Amino acid sequence: MHVNEQQRIQMRAEQEQIRQNIGHIKRQILVLSGKGGVGKSSIAVNLAVWLSMQGKKVGLLDVDIHGPSVPKLLNLEGRKFQDGKEKIEPILYSDTLKVMSIGFLIQDENTALIWRGPMKHNVIKQFVSDVSWGNLDFLIVDCPPGTGDEPLSIVQLLGKAEGAVIVTTPQEVALSDVRKGITFCRKLNLPVIGVLENMSGFVCPKCGEITDIFMSGGGEKMARQMNVPFLGTIPIDPQIVRACDSGQPYVQHYSSSQTAQAFKDAMLPLLEPKEEDYLKRK
Ligand code: ADP
Repeated sequence: MHVNEQQRIQMRAEQEQIRQNIGHIKRQILVLSGKGGVGKSSIAVNLAVWLSMQGKKVGLLDVDIHGPSVPKLLNLEGRKFQDGKEKIEPILYSDTLKVMSIGFLIQDENTALIWRGPMKHNVIKQFVSDVSWGNLDFLIVDCPPGTGDEPLSIVQLLGKAEGAVIVTTPQEVALSDVRKGITFCRKLNLPVIGVLENMSGFVCPKCGEITDIFMSGGGEKMARQMNVPFLGTIPIDPQIVRACDSGQPYVQHYSSSQTAQAFKDAMLPLLEPKEEDYLKRK
């Protein structure tokens, strides 16, 4: 594409606007998955809530334009964001957790958005340049599944994201898509913080015993083969399905469950990463 001088000036002005708007966010972390339905949005939501429970100031940005699930997972459905004087005000889940999603703009959740690539890019750009994020310790970005336009847009717009957490399930179909996700990160110079295996084993609601359904451990093996860190496994828990459906993040509402404990153990390296953690990321 031929870029003329005027377009170049406009691009520079936009980049400067983004830099000023997100310049007070210390750490930006993306949550990705190779395919849908692996629990990526639930992980992004619980990560944001857990970090805010640790006293951090957190933003949660849902860039899933076609299937935004963050409002439902946080019981914020029906809320509409305010267009402030200069900036768009995010929705507050709590004093320390700001949330933005295209779901806050859609009137009817059953209406499918049919948007072309440039329109999606512009909306994501507005989320980054026009939302009043303010000073944050973390911005957690819930990306749509796969390696399409939206993850690409957000990585380019953020410019200096710390890295990506890649969520998978143990089955080979999910794992082969994760390999593509890792290649995508490498092409964009986005470090892989680690792979997280969700729905790994089943927690019996009666006795609490964990049974392997889909042969757990595939995520760890794949992470070793691809030379990226492995963060841990989170079991399938019927309680979690109910928690997600009713908009109650399990780290907060079922904080003593095995699932919440497994989640916290897996995510601990993100809270205060050590230097060797950074060296392991590629
Ligand atoms: P994705 O963002 O990958 O499409 P979601 O986070 O929307 O996936 O989760 C898909 C479904 O799986 C939701 O109904 C959610 O409640 C459920 N789910 C996610 N993680 C678990 C888990 N560890 N145990 C049981 N159900 C889960």
